[in-house]
Amino acid sequence: METWKLLFGGTGCPMDAPRPDKSAHWDLIAPLAISSLYLSKNQTYRGHCQLIFDGRHACQLEQLTLQEYRAFTDDLFAAQRAVMRTVHPDHINVEVLGNVVPHLHWHIVPRYRDDPRWGYPIWDGEPFEPRQITLPEAELHALRDRIIHHLRDH
Ligand SMILES: [Zn+2]
Repeated sequence: METWKLLFGGTGCPMDAPRPDKSAHWDLIAPLAISSLYLSKNQTYRGHCQLIFDGRHACQLEQLTLQEYRAFTDDLFAAQRAVMRTVHPDHINVEVLGNVVPHLHWHIVPRYRDDPRWGYPIWDGEPFEPRQITLPEAELHALRDRIIHHLRDH
């Protein structure tokens, strides 16, 4: 709880911009208007991305100005559409949690009728133990390139 409070206040926030293009958790897909889109290394849900707010350290939507909120949701619209058009899932979950890292980021999670948690949120377990399915680098790059292609759709 103490660590979370420090992170909430912006001390040592691992998601503040600028951040590395690659980490143990993601690879950069593209910077958008006020956020950057990353492809998660964990591809249990094929196409799982995170859209991280770049404007400044902010933890909750209500901390944004209306202008920042609109720019962020415009980015979200483009990002989730590009993911949908890339992986053609049965459904998609879009979530802001921030229970571990309280810096605004959307999880964009394609869902499939044969996925391990169909019918439920992907977050389970106490404490949360994510499943880990990784893809070969070439497949990750191909996914990334196709998402970039669809980000240009109008
Ligand atoms: Zn932050």
